[in-house]
Amino acid sequence: MDRSEILKWLSEEDEGRLETLWYRTDDVRRANVGDEVHLRGLIEFSNYCVRRCHYCGLRADNHGIVRYRMTADEILDCARKAVEFKYGTVVLQSGEDTGVETEWMASVIRRIKSETPLAVTLSLGERGDEDLEAWRRAGADRYLLRFETSNPVLYERIHPSLPGRRSDRVAILRTLRRLGYEVGSGVMIGLPGQTCEDLADDIELFRELDLDMIGVGPYILHPDTPLGRKAVVSCRLSVARPVRSALDVERSKLNVERSKLGVEGSSTLPTACCLLPAARSQVPDTELMTYKVIALARIVCPLANIPSTTALATVNLARGRELGLQRGANVVMPNLTPPGYRALYEIYPSKACIRETAEECHLCLESRIAAIGRTIGAGRGDSTASRDRVQSAPMSEANS
Ligand code: SAH
Repeated sequence: MDRSEILKWLSEEDEGRLETLWYRTDDVRRANVGDEVHLRGLIEFSNYCVRRCHYCGLRADNHGIVRYRMTADEILDCARKAVEFKYGTVVLQSGEDTGVETEWMASVIRRIKSETPLAVTLSLGERGDEDLEAWRRAGADRYLLRFETSNPVLYERIHPSLPGRRSDRVAILRTLRRLGYEVGSGVMIGLPGQTCEDLADDIELFRELDLDMIGVGPYILHPDTPLGRKAVVSCRLSVARPVRSALDVERSKLNVERSKLGVEGSSTLPTACCLLPAARSQVPDTELMTYKVIALARIVCPLANIPSTTALATVNLARGRELGLQRGANVVMPNLTPPGYRALYEIYPSKACIRETAEECHLCLESRIAAIGRTIGAGRGDSTASRDRVQSAPMSEANS
């Protein structure tokens, strides 16, 4: 699929034609990764963060949340639950927490690897090469680091670099590949200022990086962030003239209400593109746009493991996860974080399943997967792309 076709699909609104995209994607998914849905148990083990990302509720200067860091024993308890529930993988995720020391993390990874058969995925933000190397040596199998947007100007605006250290996530993804990790990345859909051209670039970058895992979800406004505050101010100022940020706020409120009611639907308010000629190419932060990107990601990276994300379930609690799975995804990430910590890991508000226990998430997801005629994946659900890469690489490279 070339760039012009990607762009055509991103701006397609006709439901009938979109049905053909969903069919095609579902065929590609079945032919390449089969009907199995792999379960990755998510452990959100720390919400400390040194960064000041303009979209994320964990940002360092959000003083409105209580910070926590789980102990190694608490993390191991969650990993044992993953084994009990027959998940093949645990995903250890945190804010970018400099209090997570290299050796402590390495010892947690070693314990999980020696006491369980689980694959270990890390999602700890931007860490130095030595850390990534030490954790790979300790046995970590995979690393997730979304590049968030491939547009460098937009990226710098929403994800400021730390003093003296330019944020270059694509460079880190290449390092991760060199170190032998399975590599995952992804983007948010509907960031203020993001265009369809940006999304087409993102999808082409997925292909270029030959990703093993691709996670995409709608951007969800958090009121205690610079992007959230800007949207609220614009909303108050724009009584007479609808602007995109005013719509953002309304759409966001509606999404949350709809989600509480369990009402389904793929679009809430008309997108700003329809109302404002100047903002015509702004990407809407809708479910529908997210499904399009998942579908196109599946077509350009047919072997990738693609989750139907929590953010999708947040904007459509009733059907978001299922529709993601039916439009290209083959992975879900049930939450294993103990309930006492879960609500504190608030990257965006009204996150799906924050009041559930690990057991409840487990049963709920199992029945949702069965209801759409899919099966639960056995084993670790490793990336087949990664296996092929290792087999075709010269010995020295494969072993480096
Ligand atoms: N510290 C890690 C993990 C961050 S949370 C890291 O930086 O990689 C994982 C992902 O949640 C982020 O990569 C981002 O894409 C997503 N996220 C953060 N804030 C969000 C928001 N307001 N709406 C939707 N997704 C968000």
